[in-house]
Amino acid sequence: MSLGIMDTPPEERFDRLTRMAKRLFGVPIALVSLVDDHRQWFKSCVGLPVQETSADISFCGHAILGNDIFVIPDALLDERFADNPLVLNDPKIRFYAGCPLRAGNGLKLGTLCIIDRKPRQLTADDLEALQDLACMVERELDAIQLATLDELTGISNRRGFRELADKSLKFCLRHGTAASLIFMDLDKFKPINDEFGHAEGDRVLIDFAGLMKTAFRDSDVFARLGGDEFVALLTDASNEVAEEVVGRLREATEKYSEQANRGYALAFSYGIVEFNPAIHLSIDALLADSDRQMYAAKKSRREPHPEAPETPL
Ligand code: GH3
Ligand code: MG
Repeated sequence: MSLGIMDTPPEERFDRLTRMAKRLFGVPIALVSLVDDHRQWFKSCVGLPVQETSADISFCGHAILGNDIFVIPDALLDERFADNPLVLNDPKIRFYAGCPLRAGNGLKLGTLCIIDRKPRQLTADDLEALQDLACMVERELDAIQLATLDELTGISNRRGFRELADKSLKFCLRHGTAASLIFMDLDKFKPINDEFGHAEGDRVLIDFAGLMKTAFRDSDVFARLGGDEFVALLTDASNEVAEEVVGRLREATEKYSEQANRGYALAFSYGIVEFNPAIHLSIDALLADSDRQMYAAKKSRREPHPEAPETPL
């Protein structure tokens, strides 16, 4: 899933809803379970020891496949689940009802589910109430997405970047993997706004984000920090590798300018800093370092080198 909230700490806004579900239905267990390509993870969990969150409760896997609430009134009478270890052993699930959770774009993110140790039936009213609660969970998930995405370009914003990059850096630190941060600022962007209008400027920002999407890998974290500033954290990439990737992005922007032929060129200055845990104690330190590099590069592009012959006006 793309929200970047896997492995984030428990949050009251979700715990409140699982507590409500537990109380409303009189069940011992209620969960907000999220899935990505590889695993299932509980964003909120009442009635189960937290350590069990990594257990694959394939109930949710079934629930997420459908569009409606998935109900198992008695797991022992259901051949798909009768021999499931979570039915036979602790937590001894007998009843399960899971409502799929969708992101704003329709993508299924997980389930809100209620679980009991005895068989149960849900009435039409119960189903409606569970659906209502699931909608409230979806709203909270949407709020997270809105807070971490840049509205204009749809890629991460500064906050989203910091959250995702922080996780990436911790991973690199644990595994001794190299990481490099690329800081980019568009060149002469203000004149595009001034001469062609703000809407044209917006279009350039959106298109640049699109070019970034094709230049970077899925595992890279990239974002628009604000204005015409963009960043990318490349994992498993030394400074040299990052230079190559920037080279690809530069080629893509040149091609874009040529094809668009709109009377201006899309270009950017950049700085690259390889992550050094001894110096960069936080993502902010790495950002500041790469911002300085970018600024120095921009300055030297703007101000011709003293020895260089002056360009005729
Ligand atoms: P330099 O080459 O030195 O980077 O200068 P620049 O013209 O690119 O201007 P600079 O980076 O200093 O400033 C970025 C400009 O981007 C300032 C602001 O007017 C404009 N800007 C910021 N946010 C937006 C936005 O969301 N849409 C548009 N169209 N313009 C924006
Ligand atoms: Mg700029």
